[in-house]
Amino acid sequence: MSRWRDGEGMATHEQSDLPRERKMAPTMTKAETNYRPASFTNRRCGVCSMYKRSSPLGSCTLVKGLIDPDYVCKKFEPRSKPLSVPESQIA
Ligand code: SF4
Repeated sequence: MSRWRDGEGMATHEQSDLPRERKMAPTMTKAETNYRPASFTNRRCGVCSMYKRSSPLGSCTLVKGLIDPDYVCKKFEPRSKPLSVPESQIA
């Protein structure tokens, strides 16, 4: 005997995926957020909580377009968990 009612699992999956995709679509332009080359290595897209890594350029959950990890904008938010850094690079 199935523990699922007819179609329940598929309907739940489809309903939960569509709104999440819409919520994650970037809404702001680079001009609106003053997107520019970063001046500091600890304040740049590559270490921002909204950066989505891909190679060589990434994307952002807030700002539209390709995002360079060595740029930054005024909406920068640090990742809650820092990236691991090799001991040789810690000053
Ligand atoms: S600094 Fe701005 S453009 Fe870069 S990832 Fe964060 S929010 Fe996106």
